Amino acid sequence: MRSAPSRRPVLILVGAGHAHVEVLRRFAHRPLAGTDLVLVTRAARTPYSGAVPLVIAGHLPPEAALIDAAGLAARASARLILASAIGLDASARTLHLDDGTRLRFDQMSLDIGSMPDMAALGRDAAAVIPAKPIDGLLARIEALSAAMRGREAPATIAVVGSGPAGVELAFSLDHRFAAGHRRGPPMRIVLAGRSPILLPGCNADTRRRIERRLARRGIRHLPGFDAVTCRGDGLRAADGRAVAADAVIWATGSAAPGWLAASGLACDAGGFVLVDETLRSRSHPSVFAAGDIAALATPRPKAGVFAVRAGPVLAQNLRREAGGQALRSYRPQARWLNLISTGERHAVADRGPLSLEGGWVWQWKRWIDVLFVRRYARGAGIDQDQV
Ligand SMILES: Cc1cc2nc3c(=O)[nH]c(=O)nc-3n(C[C@H](O)[C@H](O)[C@H](O)COP(=O)(O)OP(=O)(O)OC[C@H]3O[C@@H](n4cnc5c(N)ncnc54)[C@H](O)[C@@H]3O)c2cc1C
Repeated sequence: MRSAPSRRPVLILVGAGHAHVEVLRRFAHRPLAGTDLVLVTRAARTPYSGAVPLVIAGHLPPEAALIDAAGLAARASARLILASAIGLDASARTLHLDDGTRLRFDQMSLDIGSMPDMAALGRDAAAVIPAKPIDGLLARIEALSAAMRGREAPATIAVVGSGPAGVELAFSLDHRFAAGHRRGPPMRIVLAGRSPILLPGCNADTRRRIERRLARRGIRHLPGFDAVTCRGDGLRAADGRAVAADAVIWATGSAAPGWLAASGLACDAGGFVLVDETLRSRSHPSVFAAGDIAALATPRPKAGVFAVRAGPVLAQNLRREAGGQALRSYRPQARWLNLISTGERHAVADRGPLSLEGGWVWQWKRWIDVLFVRRYARGAGIDQDQV
């Protein structure tokens, strides 16, 4: 058992997700006095999800979507441990890592994202490329591209999931392969979703706009396709429909890692950590959670926008908790902006009943994404009222 070098309280941040990078940024500007801060995360650089489709489409270099989590940890005087958490005893306040280490903590915060829910596929899950965890997605797409480069015959990629992530992936892959295969065999993209309609969380105008773009790019949409098997030759739906595919990308549903179920933390039916309005675990006051892994008091979809918005409140609450002060509430917004890129330099904006599209929406999205990542680079400033 490794224990803290001093008797000061230990706060462990697990995962460098969208909320924790903000916590680290704020602690870098105003250190958390009297506490040993530790960041446990899998990789030194962590992706910003909004920018990932633009990288896949070839509009941005990979580094434009990556936040330097290791650099942030250093600036926040946090001890960085590059490892995966694989177990937790919430009552004993012990975190288990994949290198065999056990870490004791006084406070802990989880921001580890989620995985795709592939339970319906059973053993066939091994045959698909999962879109989440998002931290390995760019490498998985690179590997797919390399495998497709050598092909002589036309190929089909099926993207499963007709929410914003699936739709953006279908468009960006289409754009990537259309550009890369101008002199080679054509690449077809098929978008299959269990929902009878495309983008069920968006308004009707946005759906129409996206459907028009899909048709224009020759991307086939299969609504109501409840994929239940995935073998070497493609996908089959519960109703017997089949679609031939050389590769399948799974971008639907969200699941939590299994080790949380055995942690003693109160979790919802999906295995996500139940938190109150202050982002504190409902069962263990020493544990906080934000982002996809948290089951919020007011349920919201698993989208990066909520992890980003939770970041400032989480930072304040971790500081207030350490100082014995009352905690603040995080109230997730009821309407949020979806910016859906469509492969080319074009995007559709969706918020409540509002839908807009054009090259300028794409420029706007690109600007937001690039600025977001830059915010975490060395030397980026911070307003004094933000700490
Ligand atoms: C293609 C695609 C596009 C998307 N686009 C958008 C978008 O435009 N807008 C939007 O709102 N949402 C989008 N999403 C959803 C978004 O990716 C997630 O909701 C968001 O990343 C969740 O953020 P998070 O902070 O919870 O975790 P993540 O961003 O997933 O970060 C998790 C962090 O924890 C680390 N980690 C994970 N497990 C462990 C472990 N066991 N031990 C240690 N470290 C660990 C990871 O390395 C990573 O640093 C998109 C998703 C996909 C797949």
